[in-house]
Amino acid sequence: MTKLSLDSYVPIVGEDVVSHLRQLGGLLEGKKMVHVNSTKSGGGVAEILHRLIPLLRDLGIDATWEVMEGSPPFYECTKLFHNTLQGNHIPIPDRLLQIYEETNRVNAARLRPVLEEADMVVIHDPQPAGFLRHCPNRKGTWFWRCHIDVSHPYRPTWRYLREFVKDYDASIFSLAAFAQPLPHPMYLIPPSIDPLGVTNQDIPESEIDGVRAEFGLDPGRPLVTQVSRFDRFKDPVGVIEAYRLAKEFVPGLQLVLAGGGADDDPEGAAVVAEVRAAANHDDDIHVLLLPGDAHRTINALQRASDIVIQKSIREGFGLTVSEGMWKGKPVIGGNTGGIRLQVFDHHTGFLVNTPEGTALRIRYLLRNQELMREMGEKAREFVRENFLLTRHLREYLTAFLGTMNGFENRIELT
Ligand code: UDP
Repeated sequence: MTKLSLDSYVPIVGEDVVSHLRQLGGLLEGKKMVHVNSTKSGGGVAEILHRLIPLLRDLGIDATWEVMEGSPPFYECTKLFHNTLQGNHIPIPDRLLQIYEETNRVNAARLRPVLEEADMVVIHDPQPAGFLRHCPNRKGTWFWRCHIDVSHPYRPTWRYLREFVKDYDASIFSLAAFAQPLPHPMYLIPPSIDPLGVTNQDIPESEIDGVRAEFGLDPGRPLVTQVSRFDRFKDPVGVIEAYRLAKEFVPGLQLVLAGGGADDDPEGAAVVAEVRAAANHDDDIHVLLLPGDAHRTINALQRASDIVIQKSIREGFGLTVSEGMWKGKPVIGGNTGGIRLQVFDHHTGFLVNTPEGTALRIRYLLRNQELMREMGEKAREFVRENFLLTRHLREYLTAFLGTMNGFENRIELT
């Protein structure tokens, strides 16, 4: 795992932020913390854990990250969890639920010694939610960390999952609208991006030019980009519709839809086929299938764009929104979930509900270059204040301290 020092963040967030983190971290020094999720690469959770774990370690916390393993039917089941918790009405067959429970049992048994010994365990999302009941001798505090938009879940799925989640010591949601009634304390902690990670660090202009050349993008014509897994909730086909509508008024417009699959997402290939059909051989629509480690390419593509789009119809948070904003781009984002936290409508970008609305905002921004620059600057500062990893780390530390201190409402810093 990469070694990281919080001191490298001082030039970006200031000395005080880092020394506050060291004070909070000092209270947890030497404690064992284990994070568990279901994929090492692909998707926002893995992206965050790759950077959060080294920073926790830099604070002296003995943090580790475990990844559960499953067979294709397990991922079929958890993708159904994902889709139905985000609102699709599809009953999940018992056959798949049995595989879900068995996979949780087997993985929890493999990891039990580590999990039962840990002072803090953070279980990310529904995939490993069943671990808790297989660790009867647990010593530490267990958190269920939900990254998805469960504001309007399909009730049968939530009722099923709730049986596993309710026994945790606490849960963490990204925003208030997602919190569901649970018999334990709930924390609201939005995710974050790492300004020093490969996806967001500064890169030379020559590298951006290189990526433009590699993918045949014309630097003299406007470019709008959506980076995301090929998932229907991200509405890539809606982005193509918006591009077509906008192109009637902006003839040179180019569109990039860039993404790869996540190891735990079995639906990607079908969605790519739908996207290719919708693109219908238009040379100015670039559908890029990227490998899981193409973070520098994504960084360059976001920087090469005039506008970043994230037209999701459901979205837990949408790291790609903050990634675009950090690069000084206005973001046109779907008016849903965590995108609403990041896109401050008319200030850091625009919130949209339809392809028509998206097209209108693309045209409007491309015609007002000065406004686009101003919005981009505001967007970057908004991310600096609210959505960097250092803020995320602080909120995690306070949640851990609060819970471990028996919910005392005062934490004394030395
Ligand atoms: N990402 C990536 N490769 C891709 C598509 C996305 O590395 O092909 C990254 C993207 O830059 C972002 C994360 O994966 O950091 C996706 O997180 P987000 O919250 O936007 O969506 P999720 O996939 O978790 O729903």
